[in-house]
Amino acid sequence: MILPELDVRTPASLSDALQMMAEFPGARPLAGGTDLLVLLKQRLLPVGPLIDLGRLAELETLGTVGENLVIGAGVTLCEVGENTLVRNLFPALSEAAAAAAGPNLRNMGTIGGNLCLFPRCLYYNQSRFWRSTLGNCLKTGGESCFAVPGSLRCYACFSADCPPPLIALGAKVSVARWCDGQVGSRLIPLEDLYRNDGVRPLTLNPDELVTAIYLPVREGLRSAYGKYRRRASIDFPLAGVAVSFVLEENRFKDIVVVLGAMASAPIMAREAMTLLEGREYGKEVLEAAAEQVARGTHPVRNQPGSPEHRRHMTRILFRRMVAKLVTGD
Ligand SMILES: Cc1cc2nc3c(=O)[nH]c(=O)nc-3n(C[C@H](O)[C@H](O)[C@H](O)COP(=O)(O)OP(=O)(O)OC[C@H]3O[C@@H](n4cnc5c(N)ncnc54)[C@H](O)[C@@H]3O)c2cc1C
Repeated sequence: MILPELDVRTPASLSDALQMMAEFPGARPLAGGTDLLVLLKQRLLPVGPLIDLGRLAELETLGTVGENLVIGAGVTLCEVGENTLVRNLFPALSEAAAAAAGPNLRNMGTIGGNLCLFPRCLYYNQSRFWRSTLGNCLKTGGESCFAVPGSLRCYACFSADCPPPLIALGAKVSVARWCDGQVGSRLIPLEDLYRNDGVRPLTLNPDELVTAIYLPVREGLRSAYGKYRRRASIDFPLAGVAVSFVLEENRFKDIVVVLGAMASAPIMAREAMTLLEGREYGKEVLEAAAEQVARGTHPVRNQPGSPEHRRHMTRILFRRMVAKLVTGD
């Protein structure tokens, strides 16, 4: 797998980068490159100009601003995982960043790239030679999905670790573009970045960049992230469960449960959230909620392991995370 010849542009500032994104049709942002370069090697993307975000100081913020913790899109997974503020205030995010990929990839890979990771599929993330034996699936311009034969929509799996905990923690992201000769930006809830569509997974316009994440600091918020994968040293999640809540007199308040690797976007386990909200912690209620978590998922056969097993793992991870946050066990 050899890289094609690349046209890499190196902007000196965020506004330069946004101007380049607007100027060159087909331009893509290049952050750590740990996913993008693999896709280019596999000839899964057209080769256009790459706008290197690696040297942009504006994307490197990590600290509290007012009532938020602000994390720049260019901060590495390693820094997010090891940062004391993140670890103390938002353990679910710290756990997810530390469990993504392997150490060398976490040193290069950024949180912005993690939010914008392409959904994955056993039939898609393969070399051109491997794929040539089957022809094109929906995601590579064919007429139907190989994972769900006959389906006219792509079910590629959302495999990034950080977005589920970030959504559970109430994150917003700032999105910027070059507009009327200046930088324009908007702030959106992170869940609005995703469409649950394997072919067009993000709501970003082609000339937009994610610049930062805003996490509201809240006293008493407990959170955890549980991940199931084949090799704990490096693999993508086959199931991911993020939970956050406040516990008041042993009752759940503002509980949010978000699942990763079950669909083409992170999904909220709304039935389980409704069932637990305001209820007192106990084994029976936890068991009933875990059942709802599993029942609300619909993974398909596009990742290693059976969909039934992955769904069952959401039940187990959810139970473990909640019990750990309540009892410390
Ligand atoms: C062997 C292996 C195992 C991995 N395991 C995991 C895992 O377990 N969990 C996991 O979550 N990930 C995993 N990854 C994927 C990847 O390493 C991480 O998701 C990483 O955070 C991607 O960040 P990056 O900076 O390298 O992104 P890049 O590869 O540079 O970019 C990824 C995508 O995001 C876009 N992008 C980047 N920055 C921005 C921005 N600021 N605004 C808009 N778009 C942007 C790029 O154009 C590209 O489409 C793995 C990768 C490999 C090779």
